[in-house]
Amino acid sequence: MIPKASYDVIVVGAGPAGSTAALYAARNGASVLLLDKKREIGNPIQCAGFLPDASEVGALMPDAILPETLNNYPDSCVLRHIKTQRIIPPNCNAKEFAVKGAVLDRRRYDQFLAGQAAEAGAELMVKTRVTKIQGTTLEISGIFGKQTIKTKALIGADGPNSPVAKAKGLTMKPELKETSVAIEYQVRMVDIDQDALEMYFGKDYVPGGYAWIFPEGEGRANIGIGIRSGMAEKGVSAKDYLQRFMHEHPLAAPKLKNAVIMNIIAGIIPVNGAPAKTASEDSLIVGDAAGHIIATNGGGIPPAMIAGKIAGETAAEFAAGKCRLEEYDRRWRAQFGPALETSVQARQIMDGIMKSDALMNAAFKFISPEQMKVMQCGKLPGPVKLGLQALNRGKK
Ligand SMILES: Cc1cc2nc3c(=O)[nH]c(=O)nc-3n(C[C@H](O)[C@H](O)[C@H](O)COP(=O)(O)OP(=O)(O)OC[C@H]3O[C@@H](n4cnc5c(N)ncnc54)[C@H](O)[C@@H]3O)c2cc1C
Repeated sequence: MIPKASYDVIVVGAGPAGSTAALYAARNGASVLLLDKKREIGNPIQCAGFLPDASEVGALMPDAILPETLNNYPDSCVLRHIKTQRIIPPNCNAKEFAVKGAVLDRRRYDQFLAGQAAEAGAELMVKTRVTKIQGTTLEISGIFGKQTIKTKALIGADGPNSPVAKAKGLTMKPELKETSVAIEYQVRMVDIDQDALEMYFGKDYVPGGYAWIFPEGEGRANIGIGIRSGMAEKGVSAKDYLQRFMHEHPLAAPKLKNAVIMNIIAGIIPVNGAPAKTASEDSLIVGDAAGHIIATNGGGIPPAMIAGKIAGETAAEFAAGKCRLEEYDRRWRAQFGPALETSVQARQIMDGIMKSDALMNAAFKFISPEQMKVMQCGKLPGPVKLGLQALNRGKK
């Protein structure tokens, strides 16, 4: 497809944030170009694919208006429905709570989302990279050669290293930037609970993060870890930690002993919340590009899509001369800003606790399963906050 010379809205990145933004911009009357450097949407994946049901997302972000594609997608996108979440502290005294959701095939889901945007009228270009951004003029390069195109509103849905955020001065201050390095394997021949998400903690296996086993049905699973490199042992990589987890963890290793690795996936997860500004007079950032991730669990799909809807609607309004683009910043913060901020605070408190397995075990002992669920949702119940702060103080 050869693009036109100009659009109302150009969206860079066709992940969950970008495709949702393109869908809602097109639905609201804007001419939209959605482009991605990947040659196939959603491939390679960089995600474990867990998506909570709308009821769970609603509890996490009660003021958010969910895009319909967050809870209404084809069954073919689902690898496994989930009923339980199990948390395993260093001493292996597991606690669990009920959770509703699904482990998705992210490749299929991302293609479904991009397809919805195209059906609403957005033009889609794959294998097309934005190479230069000057004001509202973009240089793109891809399968159809190089082009220069113009837009009224530019949406950066281009992931954690967002070129749009960099070009538009919408990045986090470097001293505040905090990322988790994640690596995961899609495996077969594992003997795991196919109805439960499992999350493992312990500084020897996952410093500053957690390891997960997410079922994908029929003896398959996504096994991964997200660690903070600043908290890791010197010279030990994320891959080394994942190997250690798979082969040495007392509870996990027996379940994974026959695992055959089919796919290796790596990525980074921003866990510092959003920068001070996520919009300028002609551009905005959304999803991972804007730090829209629940810092306690690395869940980024729901906030990316909720903000994507707001981004698309606001960009279309802006292109029609009905509002300033900066309005986007206020709108998404009103819908889920507090949940995002609380999740960062909870993560910061947990950072102190995670330096010691004894503290982790003590913390997991006094936090009830119900409170754990609330924390997973990026909230920090008062008694838990006080208890964790006391543990943190006691260690000094
Ligand atoms: C290992 C791992 C596991 C995870 N597991 C989960 C999970 O289970 N559940 C969950 O909710 N979240 C999970 N996350 C987080 C989740 O994957 C992200 O939050 C989510 O994908 C964010 O969507 P997005 O649209 O903002 O960005 P992305 O999905 O990263 O999409 C950004 C797109 O921009 C494109 N792009 C970048 N630069 C350019 C350019 N210059 N030109 C053109 N295109 C460009 C990229 O190709 C990419 O397709 C995980 C993350 C990792 C790394």
